[in-house]
Amino acid sequence: IGFVSKTDPEVGAAMGRELARQRRNIELIASENIVSPAVLAAMGSVLTNKYAEGYPAKRYYGGCQNVDEVENIAIERAKKLFGAEHANVQPHAGAQANLAVYFALLEPGDTVLGMSLADGGHLTHGSPVNLSGKYYKFVSYGVDPVTEVIDYDKVREIALECRPKLLVAGASAYPRVIDFERLSAIAREAGAYFMVDMAHIAGLVAAGEHPSPVPYADIVTTTTHKTLRGPRGGMILCREELGKKIDKAIFPGMQGGPLEHIIAAKAVCFGEAMTPEFKAYQHQIVLNCRALAKALTARGFRLISGGSDNHLVLLDLRNFGITGKDFEKKLDEVYITVNKNAIPNDPQSPFITSGVRVGTPAVTSRGFVEADMEKIAEFFYLTATDFDNKADEIRAGVEALCAKYPLYE
Ligand code: PLP
Repeated sequence: IGFVSKTDPEVGAAMGRELARQRRNIELIASENIVSPAVLAAMGSVLTNKYAEGYPAKRYYGGCQNVDEVENIAIERAKKLFGAEHANVQPHAGAQANLAVYFALLEPGDTVLGMSLADGGHLTHGSPVNLSGKYYKFVSYGVDPVTEVIDYDKVREIALECRPKLLVAGASAYPRVIDFERLSAIAREAGAYFMVDMAHIAGLVAAGEHPSPVPYADIVTTTTHKTLRGPRGGMILCREELGKKIDKAIFPGMQGGPLEHIIAAKAVCFGEAMTPEFKAYQHQIVLNCRALAKALTARGFRLISGGSDNHLVLLDLRNFGITGKDFEKKLDEVYITVNKNAIPNDPQSPFITSGVRVGTPAVTSRGFVEADMEKIAEFFYLTATDFDNKADEIRAGVEALCAKYPLYE
């Protein structure tokens, strides 16, 4: 930041304020994390200067020897980390990874079965405002209205009725284990390909904290920047026989030159993910989330599905008489960052919502442990019930907690 400030004070100042915000705030957005200095450095490296359309040893540009080496390291580590036969590390983001799979396997107008956005799925799983929903005929499944857990019998029923060409699993706001084995059996019975978007849980999967989809899915997509704690980007894993189709869909199908500096950071991230420290980190994410779920429940918050098996909880705020939008704003004012999120059968619009999504990956990277989750739950309770009188007290508590765990020092 100092370097940027010297030549561009305007951008440098905004970057400096963002670093200060990250240091000051308790970061609970479930899809965010805090990357290592090595991942940061790889992203900010000279590899950004290089054009390398194509794949290692099959490029459309000269001078690719070194980026070939970097990309091959990323590919080999990704395959080893997740036990996959083929890896494409070029998707610029999770959305591109998903759209590339559709481009590789489907024709426009084909039927696809995916989890509805309203029940925790992602925009790229068929939302009508997303390219996926516009080009393909998406049919949705969701959670049981009582248990708020995926209704697998219903998924089977819908699949056998609509006969999709592809079944998509994975979610952005689902606090429970997803039964990939069961969904793969449903896909097989319905004659569909089976794709899992493990973006949110990739780190947990790498560390064995969530069952892996790789043995069951034809294709697995992910982002690399959520629990996996790498650079902002995407990746596709698949069986060897689909590898060529996937590679062609990414380049030349929908992307141009790969971001080799980001691919270098992905390689560094995969290297970190193979260490015992990373395994311990992922375990602590889950322990923290369980502690947070327990402490919030004890203070009267209703958790969707009654709890959490992974890195996030989804809160239904209706009994506190506050919307997701208002709670997000109030928490921001006391330096706690969350995002408003629709809950299943939400009576509010997606811009207002009745819930917030709360995740532990970033605070766990910072060093927070279970005892700190008690404090966070208390800050939530005071914000929801007595914000006007307690805001200063909460801010002081947040400041004291963050001071215990310095960031990038
Ligand atoms: N898939 C899932 C399940 C996600 O939660 C997200 C992001 O929130 C994405 C895909 C898209 O990733 P990106 O923002 O990198 O396009």
